[in-house]
Amino acid sequence: MDRLASEAPLTPVEQRAPGRWQIGTVTSIKQETPRVKSFRIELPMWMPHLPGQHYDVRLTAPDGYRAERSYSVASSPLDEGEIELTIDLLEDGEVSPYFHEVVVEGDQVEVRGPFASYFVWRGEAPVLLVGGGSGAVPLMAILRHRRRTMPDLPMRLVYSVRNAEDVIYADELGDDAVLTFTREPPEGWTGHTGRIDESLIAEADPDPGVAFVCGSDGFVEAASGLIMQAGLTPQQIRTERFGPT
Ligand SMILES: Cc1cc2nc3c(=O)[nH]c(=O)nc-3n(C[C@H](O)[C@H](O)[C@H](O)COP(=O)(O)OP(=O)(O)OC[C@H]3O[C@@H](n4cnc5c(N)ncnc54)[C@H](O)[C@@H]3O)c2cc1C
Repeated sequence: MDRLASEAPLTPVEQRAPGRWQIGTVTSIKQETPRVKSFRIELPMWMPHLPGQHYDVRLTAPDGYRAERSYSVASSPLDEGEIELTIDLLEDGEVSPYFHEVVVEGDQVEVRGPFASYFVWRGEAPVLLVGGGSGAVPLMAILRHRRRTMPDLPMRLVYSVRNAEDVIYADELGDDAVLTFTREPPEGWTGHTGRIDESLIAEADPDPGVAFVCGSDGFVEAASGLIMQAGLTPQQIRTERFGPT
């Protein structure tokens, strides 16, 4: 008798199709700041992403009109079966207002991913993360993953926000994060204010092996310039720009 047939039945191989559109279910929504929400989405064809990667989201109107945008994954790939996307509301936008004003828990959304091979963290160290506004999202995936897999690996986040109320993931930022407020700091704040500068980069990490920079175009330009002044080569700096396409 065939040896395989005599033993326990074979487990069918589950289908995984990276990059194909799939319908996810929103399982929870967290209001992070007045204009930022995080969405946990359960995926039937989930596969582990690398921290830093993103998904595409597609909305289809009843007349067939479609809008597609990219959103970074905020969660660690250890969160099996689901991803977290964190979306900043642009009032005159097409996709972000839909998520903020229409999507509720239990809704279905169309996504595909994970994508990107360049802006990803593969365990290099020491790491300097520099984010502005919603640019903190992919950096949070890196921080979260490091906390769960290699908590002692040197990693520092420099995070620039406008006002006290704009800090995304506020309850998760610890000693590994240095904040600066460019407009209104919280009351009694004794830390940094104003734009990211040389001293802030130096304080965060005098000798990173690799740096990840994410935010608007202008933010990425300025921060990368400062990091190069601090001695890193362009090859050591990975950037992601969230600006208009
Ligand atoms: C790889 C990648 C990852 C991204 N990850 C995230 C993420 O994790 N969270 C997140 O909130 N966004 C992220 N973005 C930005 C996101 O894809 C959209 O551009 C953003 O949500 C605006 O889409 P919208 O349809 O609401 O606005 P749109 O209809 O595209 O634009 C509305 C108006 O806002 C301007 N605009 C568009 N995008 C931006 C922007 N980012 N900043 C300022 N003005 C803008 C447009 O020029 C236009 O005037 C990412 C972008 C890329 C390329």
